This record gives sequence, C-alpha cells and structure tokens, in this order.
Amino acid sequence: MKCPVCNFESNEILKTKGKNTKEVLIKCKECGNIFRETIKVPKRIDCRIIISKFSQSEKKQIKLYPDEILQVGEVLIVDDEEVEITSLENKRGGRVPKSHISELETIWATSLAGPARVGISIDYGGRVLSQKVEVERDFLFTVGDVVKMGKAVFRIKSMKTITSKIRKGSALAEQIKRIYSRPATHKDKFQYDLTSKIVENENVD
Ligand SMILES: [Zn+2]
Repeated sequence: MKCPVCNFESNEILKTKGKNTKEVLIKCKECGNIFRETIKVPKRIDCRIIISKFSQSEKKQIKLYPDEILQVGEVLIVDDEEVEITSLENKRGGRVPKSHISELETIWATSLAGPARVGISIDYGGRVLSQKVEVERDFLFTVGDVVKMGKAVFRIKSMKTITSKIRKGSALAEQIKRIYSRPATHKDKFQYDLTSKIVENENVD
C-alpha cells in the first residue's frame, strides 16, 4: 500500500476492522502521513477432503481460500489433525500434483496423527508369518536388526518403503509398508521387542 502523499511503500498498520472487507488505518514510515485503505478479504470455500488412516478413510470438509495453490506433500490441519496431501483431484477428474483450490474436486490426504502401521513378514523357509505392528512414526528400522515379536525372533532382510525396496540401510516407520525377515539364529540377541506393538494377526500360510 503506497502512501498517497510521498509514494513510499513501507508503512505501519495502526488499526484494522471489518471481516470480509477490512478497513485499515495506515501510517507512512517515510512522511508520517496517516491514511485509510479498504482491503477485500477473499471468502473461504468448502473443499472436500478424504483422509485415510490405516485402512479406513473419512470424508470431511475444509475451508480454504479459492485463489491459493495446493500441492501434493503439503500438510493441512483438519479438525486439529495434521494430514498430508497425497493426491489432488480436479474438476475434470484428473489427478494433478498441484492445483488452484478453485479447480479442485477432492483433496486426498493421509493422517499424520498417531502411530505408523507396519507389516512384518517372517519367512520360515516357505511358511510365512505376517503380522502388523504400530510404532512411533519416527521409529527407525534398519536392515540387519534382530527383533523380537511374540515368540518369534527374526532378522530384517529387506524393507518395502513407499517409494522403493531396500536391502540395506534404514527407514522411518512412516515410510515403510512392509518388513521382510528371516528367523534369527540362537546366537543372535534381539535389539528390541515389538510384542506389545502387535495390532492384528494376518494370515499364517
Ligand atoms: Zn508518505
């Protein structure tokens, strides 16, 4: 907002009032002139957002400014819960990485609240025991870790993450979809125990 007297751009807001249109009282930092301006505040619109958490999903509404841009990977707050945008569906039915909010049909997101759920498979030479555990999102799993889970003690051989399959190194629980492992030997001592983290039994085949 330029000062009408000296055209200087830097100024201080003294007072604002109003909701959809704001009346602002401004003081110029250069010449001290005090003037009023009226600013239009854009109205927020309701957007449909589908939030997935583990295997469930929930439909909600979020109020956003139509002229703003959203991007996959951005974090939004919906009913006090942090969610990360995973996909944006526009009004033409396309999935796009980035969009003006006014062109959006549905925002797809995943909840960042609560623990991460990770699948663990232990391969007993053909017979595979699969289970799911819930751990802190920033829990670090490393290939080679020796882990106890119920009666089983296993060694992590590889991990399937959201983006790739890894055979060495580490990954955060929130990035991991499944951990593949083999039973540990009797000499191996486990480094941590996930028994209390088991959330459901999958199949034993
Ligand atoms: Zn001025």
